Amino acid sequence: MEDTRISKRPRTDVSEPTKENPSESAYEQGLVWWEDGNLVLVAEYVAFRIHKSMLARKSQIFCDMFSIPQPSNSDQYDGCPVVHMSDSAKDVSHVLSVLYDSEKYIDPKEGIDFDVIAAMLKLGRKYQMDQLVNLAVTLLQTLYPPTLFHYDKVLTVTFSGRRVARKTSHHISVLNLARRFELHQLLPPAFLACSQFSYQELVNGPPGNGEESLLSRADIARCLTGRVQLRARWMRRLEFVQLTTPSVWCNYPARCRTALEIWKKEHLWEFLQPSDTENAMENFYWLDRPGTTGLCELCTRFFKDGDRKARQQTWNSLAQIFDLEDVVEWPPQIE
Ligand SMILES: [Zn+2]
Repeated sequence: MEDTRISKRPRTDVSEPTKENPSESAYEQGLVWWEDGNLVLVAEYVAFRIHKSMLARKSQIFCDMFSIPQPSNSDQYDGCPVVHMSDSAKDVSHVLSVLYDSEKYIDPKEGIDFDVIAAMLKLGRKYQMDQLVNLAVTLLQTLYPPTLFHYDKVLTVTFSGRRVARKTSHHISVLNLARRFELHQLLPPAFLACSQFSYQELVNGPPGNGEESLLSRADIARCLTGRVQLRARWMRRLEFVQLTTPSVWCNYPARCRTALEIWKKEHLWEFLQPSDTENAMENFYWLDRPGTTGLCELCTRFFKDGDRKARQQTWNSLAQIFDLEDVVEWPPQIE
């Protein structure tokens, strides 16, 4: 949904100058404006007309606030009592849109708008809107999941037929949000994502990164040292190509040894190329094609199985790799 604010409303008798905003007598009308609303929220001169009971239902803070009788001389706008908020109009607009219209406003198939998620967390925590916070965390975990199984799905499989939008430009923001709101389970997958940035991107942020969102020096160091460890693990996964020893089950050892020698000679150097953006968790997709590798079926299965276990071990070690063992229990216990 685009932010289509209507230009300033005409001055009306009920909109008296306010303390916060003495020179202005009217506000811009926000995207969320219900004619039958009975409460006006104002953030940065933008007014949102909503339903008091809805807000009280969703937010413990507002619920408590409304339970206290309001002074009779409190601000009015368009015949409704006004509550001034110190938040940005954009954040308030996002949150109200989600509260009224979550299915329409956040559709993972259309790509998750990171600004919306950030607003849900910021205001959700501030005003004790638990459902809103839980929804934001669930959405983030869809993109930065706690298990390798789901991680593979995020990168390769689609959500209801379409790929969920996980944007490179969001990785640093997600990591910082996870730090700020203590969403610790998001940290290992967020660090894994950030560790694939170039040095330049780690320090200055990738293209499209929000200006407020840069990694702390300590977290840049975590990415860099983690990357060295990931790379060492990646090289260990390639050991079987280096050793050129067929599996113990192999019925055609001479043939499979030759196949491995060819792979070692022709492809090993490609796998070992240093690359800033290399994904150390990547699948050995080429093992899925026994006809192409020249390996027998049993060797293919053996090496694939070994690699699957090695990837899982790397995943299980993400907290240790990125020095996060103090803050997160990893791998998480999933019910
Ligand atoms: Zn074999």
